[in-house]
Amino acid sequence: MSKFNIDGKDIEFKPGQTIIEAARDNGIEIPHFCWHPKLSVSGNCRMCLVEVEKMPKLVIACSTVAAEGMVVYMDSDKAISARNAVMEFFLINHPLDCPICDEAGECKLQDYAYQHSTGESRFVEEKTHKDKRVELGPNVMFDGDRCISCSRCIRFCDEVAKDAELTFVKRGDRVTITTFPGEQLDNPYAMNVVDICPVGALTNRDFRFKARVWDMAHTNTICNGCARGCNIEVWTRNNEVLRLVPRYNEEVNSYWMCDHGRLNTFKFINAGDRIDGPHMRVEGNLIKVGWDEAFAKAASNLKAFGKDEIAFLGSAYATVEDNFVAAKFAKSVLGTGHLDFVRHIDPTFGDEILRNEDVTPNTKGAELAGVAPSKNGFDFNGIVKAIREGKIKALYVLEDDILNDNLELENVLAKLDLLIINASNFNKTSALADIVFPAATYAEKNGTFVNFQGRVQRIRPALATNDVDRALEGMSMSRLDKFGTKYDRWAQGKHFDARSSWKILVGLASAMGQKLKYNMAEEVFYDISNSIDAFKGLDYDVIAELGVQLKSVNLKSTVKI
Ligand code: SF4
Ligand code: SF4
Repeated sequence: MSKFNIDGKDIEFKPGQTIIEAARDNGIEIPHFCWHPKLSVSGNCRMCLVEVEKMPKLVIACSTVAAEGMVVYMDSDKAISARNAVMEFFLINHPLDCPICDEAGECKLQDYAYQHSTGESRFVEEKTHKDKRVELGPNVMFDGDRCISCSRCIRFCDEVAKDAELTFVKRGDRVTITTFPGEQLDNPYAMNVVDICPVGALTNRDFRFKARVWDMAHTNTICNGCARGCNIEVWTRNNEVLRLVPRYNEEVNSYWMCDHGRLNTFKFINAGDRIDGPHMRVEGNLIKVGWDEAFAKAASNLKAFGKDEIAFLGSAYATVEDNFVAAKFAKSVLGTGHLDFVRHIDPTFGDEILRNEDVTPNTKGAELAGVAPSKNGFDFNGIVKAIREGKIKALYVLEDDILNDNLELENVLAKLDLLIINASNFNKTSALADIVFPAATYAEKNGTFVNFQGRVQRIRPALATNDVDRALEGMSMSRLDKFGTKYDRWAQGKHFDARSSWKILVGLASAMGQKLKYNMAEEVFYDISNSIDAFKGLDYDVIAELGVQLKSVNLKSTVKI
């Protein structure tokens, strides 16, 4: 492989790579604002100026192609002094309002100002002033004073979202960005511009002024908005989710996520309709009861039916672990083969970028976990027909508001003698349920989802529930030390009384006189990897941060991002 030298270190590069790309691949970060690995090169910020031997002038590392034997200096006096000068220019008209800026703490301009500035400005004239608090679209606010005209946001709309909504107007120190006449920044991926804006010029209208980033904790997990399974970070404070941001995974979502996933997949977690503790219907109303009482009632009610009179629905919203235990519970505890789950497909949601028409995170995982009718059992349509005919009298529904997009089912569910559900929030289905177990959300539990490509990925608890052994769930003892800080961040704020669905079913099985011996999600997954071929050889450590492509489910993404 070809090599060049940067600050005394020989590094390898691939043909056609620029200096900045090759350096980055070798763990060397050349300061930059406008360059982004997934956008075209614009070369306008000049922050990546480096000195190259035998070249008369400094060059920008983002557009200079690496060559065999090249000798590059990022930290020579000449290069440092150029970067310091670039920073001085950037800061001349910048309002320096970090104390009230949402970007503070995660701002490139702030970081580089510490590294490349004298700490004083020689500029004594009046700064230019531009428009502030401009609503570029429903979800993004623009502050013209803070913009450094890097053009990342414009290029993102043009090149990734494929919807040219932004442009520069005016010239010189008056240049600013705006939407084209009649346009708004409202493409389905618009909020990614907030992430890639290197300063605080573009802010998330949903999150701005809610918290300082250094007061928050973040947890690596997976978006549950569709079958793409974008890798994300859940940002929390005081046991409450405040924002989601994308996490880089080239195999799944690159650096991006859609606005629907970012905005609509976490508010239900702290919503007022969360189910806090088990509930039972008494004289027409759902009332809160203790876990033992709910387990005992559900067990005795279920025992009153013949095996063929009970059906069970798993869920594409629940984890592989939840569905695996659900299938076991249905087949071996209830003894029923009437087992299936509902597919939620919305062709209007899918697109050619990230969004998938399957609006659940784990259809593939529920299938692989064995949530399917036995030989003589009914599938979902069969179950509905059998309820109508009075053959099935009891139904257990796991984490799926099946009435939400199918209101005709209301008459069907009304015919049941017993409806038990696991749900995180009160919903249309819970309005008909006899017993409701409070299910932990995807942000409160350990587990796995399998995306539409057949990639198994980890979700992790970002929030605590009342579940006493929450920290143990899915974690080996050796990792508990690392988890100490999470106890601190979980100490304050509302804790809901909810459990993972697999754990609820373990409790109910015990009340029915049968043992499902799982204490942690990790143990359920261990059983999964030993009994389902697709998961063979896997554990949570192997799946790690970026997931693993299941060999027997090799569906390649057709989408270029
Ligand atoms: S708003 Fe941000 S991303 Fe857009 S040009 Fe200005 S600094 Fe760059
Ligand atoms: S594309 Fe799907 S998985 Fe990705 S952020 Fe949007 S809803 Fe979530």
